[in-house]
Amino acid sequence: MKQTHLKTDYLVVGSGAMGMAFADVLVSESDADIIIVDSCARPGGHWNNAYSFVTLHQPSAFYGVSSRELSNGKFDQFGLNKGLGSLATGAEIIAYFDAVMKEQFLPSKRVRYFPMCTYLGDGVFKNSLTGEVFEVMAGKTVDATYLKTSVPSTHTPNFDIAEDVSFMSLNDLPKINRRPEGYVIIGGGKTGIDAVLWLLGIGVDPDAIHWIMPRDGWMLDRKNTQADISFFNDTLGAQALQFEAIASAHSVDDLFDRLEASGVLLRLDTKVKPKMFHGATVSQAELVKMRLVKNVVRMGRVKSIGLNEIGLDGGAIPTGPGLVHVDCSASAITNLEPTAIFQGDMIIPQTVRSYQPVFSAALIAHIELVKKTEREKNALCSVVPLPNHDTDWIRLMIPFMMNQYNWSRDNDIRDWLTQNRLDGFSGMVRGVSPDDIEKQVILDRMKAASLPAMAKLTQLVGQI
Ligand SMILES: Cc1cc2nc3c(=O)[nH]c(=O)nc-3n(C[C@H](O)[C@H](O)[C@H](O)COP(=O)(O)OP(=O)(O)OC[C@H]3O[C@@H](n4cnc5c(N)ncnc54)[C@H](O)[C@@H]3O)c2cc1C
Repeated sequence: MKQTHLKTDYLVVGSGAMGMAFADVLVSESDADIIIVDSCARPGGHWNNAYSFVTLHQPSAFYGVSSRELSNGKFDQFGLNKGLGSLATGAEIIAYFDAVMKEQFLPSKRVRYFPMCTYLGDGVFKNSLTGEVFEVMAGKTVDATYLKTSVPSTHTPNFDIAEDVSFMSLNDLPKINRRPEGYVIIGGGKTGIDAVLWLLGIGVDPDAIHWIMPRDGWMLDRKNTQADISFFNDTLGAQALQFEAIASAHSVDDLFDRLEASGVLLRLDTKVKPKMFHGATVSQAELVKMRLVKNVVRMGRVKSIGLNEIGLDGGAIPTGPGLVHVDCSASAITNLEPTAIFQGDMIIPQTVRSYQPVFSAALIAHIELVKKTEREKNALCSVVPLPNHDTDWIRLMIPFMMNQYNWSRDNDIRDWLTQNRLDGFSGMVRGVSPDDIEKQVILDRMKAASLPAMAKLTQLVGQI
C-alpha cells in the first residue's frame, strides 16, 4: 500500500469545532504550516451526525472560529428563544465550518486537509477509503479529539431492548410517519430537553410524553449568557450574583439555594433536588414549556425495555407497543478526565473557561504561539473540568476564576480577549464607560465578591 511522508509544523487531529478553532488561530496569528486530519468527510465533528432540529444551546455570537462571524449579531424574533441571540442550526454550523475550510484555510496554502483519514498515533494516519498511509513529521501534534463528544446517532444504549420494541435514536424521531400513542423520552440532559421541546413545538399533547429522568439537572438561564452589551446587566449581573452567592454561602446546599434564588441556576421542578450539572442552557420560555410535561419518571437509569415494561434502577413502569421509545441517553461529553494541555510536542485542548470549548481551543492556540515555556503555558491554562455532578459546579469555579485572574494580569492576553469574538464577555467589560454608574456598580460588586468567593470555594470543596 502506498505510503506518503509529510512534514508540518502542526498536525491537528480532528476538524470538529475545537480543532477548527485551534487551527484558525494558527492560520491568523502565525505563518505555521498545518495538516488537519479527520475520519469524517467534512469539518464540523459531531455536528455532522446531529438530529435535524439541533441548534446551539448558547448564542452563535461566540461560537465557531475567531476569524469569522456566525450570527452577524442577529436576535431571534419568534419562538422560545425570542429576544435572545440567535442559535445556529446544525446545518448552519456545518456550512460555516465548510466555508472556513474552503474559503480561509485552504486558500492560505498553509493548511493541508485530509478528510476520511483516521489518525493511528505516532504521526501516522490512514485514508479509510484508499488505504493510503501517511507518516507525518510534525513539530507538534494537537489532539483535538480529547473530549470524545458523543451524540445520539453514534451512541450505543447501555440497556437491553427487547425485539419488536419501538425504539429509536433522536435522529429518527422526525421520520415518524404514523402517530404513536405516546412517546417515552429516555434521558434528562440537554438532548432529552431538545426532544421534549421539539415534540411540544410540533403540537404533541404534553400528557402523551413520558420523560425518564435518571437525574434532574441544574440548568443555566440563556438570558445570562448573552454577549451583547444590551444584556450587560443579565450576563455580568449574573456573574456578580454568583460570586456573591458563593461568598455568602454557609454550606453546599445553602450555595445552591442562593444560586437558584438569584436566578443563576434553574431547575425543572423546584421540589426535586438536582444531582447533575452539565451546563445545559435554556431560556425561561423553554423552562415553562418543559414544565407542561407531568409524566416525569424519576426511578433511576433504564436497565431494560420490554414490550410491556421498562425496567429501571428503582423498579418498573408499564409501557406498550403503541409507545415510541426515544434514546436521549448519550452524554455529550464522555471524557471527564482532565490532563495537562501542553505536554512536550503534544497539545491537548480542553476547556479553560467553563462550557466554552471553542473559546478555549482558540485561546490555547494563542498561548501556544506567544508564550515560551511549557510551564508558563500550562500555568495560564488550568483545565476547567467538564461537570457531571451538581457539586462539580463548585469544583469548576476554582480553575475558572483562577484562569480569569491570571489572564487579567497578562497584558497580551487581556488585549487578545478583548478583541476576540469567541470571548464575548471581556470586550463587554472593557467597553463600559466610567460614567455608566449602573454598569460600574455591577463590575464593582464582581470585584468585591471575587476574593471572598475564591476563599469560600476552597472551603466548600472540602465539604463535598
Ligand atoms: C446538541 C449540542 C449542542 C451544543 N451546543 C453548544 C453551544 O451552544 N456552545 C458551545 O460552546 N458548545 C456546545 N456544544 C458542545 C460542543 O460539543 C462543542 O462546542 C464542540 O462542538 C465539540 O467539538 P470537538 O471538536 O471537541 O469534538 P467533535 O465535534 O467530536 O470533533 C472531534 C473530531 O475528531 C475526529 N476524530 C476523532 N478521533 C479521530 C481519529 N483517531 N482520527 C481522525 N479523526 C478523529 C472526529 O471525527 C470529529 O470530527 C453542544 C454539544 C451538543 C451535543
